[in-house]
Amino acid sequence: MSTIQAAVMTEPGHIELRQFERPQIAPTELLLKIECTGICGSDKHMYAGHMALKFPLVPGHELVGTVAELGAEATEHLAIVGGPIKEGDRVTTTPSSQACGRCHYCLHMPQRPTLCANRFVYGFVSSELAPAPRGGFSEYLHLTPNSWVFKIPDDLSSERAVLTEPAAVATRAVERALGPGIPHIGEGLGLDKSVLVLGAGPIGQLVIAVLEHIGTDLIIAADLSPSRLELARAMGAHQIVNVGQGSLEERQEEVQSMTQGVGPDTVIETAGVPVAFKESLDLVRRGGMVVEVGHFTDPGEVGIHPHIICFKDLDIRGMWAYPPIQFKTALSFLKNTRAPLDRFITHRLGLDRIGEGIDITGSEGSMKVVIEP
Ligand SMILES: [Zn+2]
Ligand SMILES: [Zn+2]
Repeated sequence: MSTIQAAVMTEPGHIELRQFERPQIAPTELLLKIECTGICGSDKHMYAGHMALKFPLVPGHELVGTVAELGAEATEHLAIVGGPIKEGDRVTTTPSSQACGRCHYCLHMPQRPTLCANRFVYGFVSSELAPAPRGGFSEYLHLTPNSWVFKIPDDLSSERAVLTEPAAVATRAVERALGPGIPHIGEGLGLDKSVLVLGAGPIGQLVIAVLEHIGTDLIIAADLSPSRLELARAMGAHQIVNVGQGSLEERQEEVQSMTQGVGPDTVIETAGVPVAFKESLDLVRRGGMVVEVGHFTDPGEVGIHPHIICFKDLDIRGMWAYPPIQFKTALSFLKNTRAPLDRFITHRLGLDRIGEGIDITGSEGSMKVVIEP
């Protein structure tokens, strides 16, 4: 029996390489040989102990791979988008399987499949449950029936395609701000609108690139890091605000001076720091919208005055991941955007250096760290 390697997080703060048996797929399944997997902010939060999960587990959910083995009946049991697939094809896959179709949310709100109570999400599941490993920081990934498989277009490089999952988050964040927009009466996102993106990490940068892609007239990026703000400009931000300088009142004035004295129409919060949510409420104009993207994990709480939500007549929209078909939108965006995404991946490391990769993620001078098993 041949073995494969995967990185196992045994508990928060500890990750190590372990051997697993090479997965044996059923006729209804697919075996993916992983080419590269990005380290996500949520992997870092998991490592920091911000997520209630059952350890040990193999993290990783932003991946590109090639079809190593395709079961004889697999194409009838997988959700395949982008054309028929065969062994050797490059594909990516959503972390979650198809929604169950039977729970309260599937029956009542099928347009929001991430609310399904029975979703399986690889990269977040115990490696003690068969089949293991079920995460992207591994040489192989076993795709069971009802998994989603997206064929990567030939003219889209793996370096770009490995950004599909974060680009799905970013495109959904912008779509949350877009709909149901009534731009001519001043509601929602549209032409001649201003958007402040709070946080210029990987998700914030991609949100900026998506806003630029759809033609937003004023994009303001805010972050603590000068190098991130500089990259934000290259991604499409027209104005930048360093949140590490000055008081909140000074920042309010600075942002208002960019937005006809009122504040941005929309704030998209991607920093995932509780105080950034409070600041979103403080900075958005009256009658505006806040889209909260950053708090996919729970790093703590912040005090707010709920009065401000009434006084400003605000719309606040949350976001729990994205429907799987968002990967199609993300791939289309990655193929067509003019943003300099080649500057996006700052580090490439082997699987044996994953601990180092998690430490680098989020540090000054880093953007996306990619593991090549
Ligand atoms: Zn991610
Ligand atoms: Zn369901």
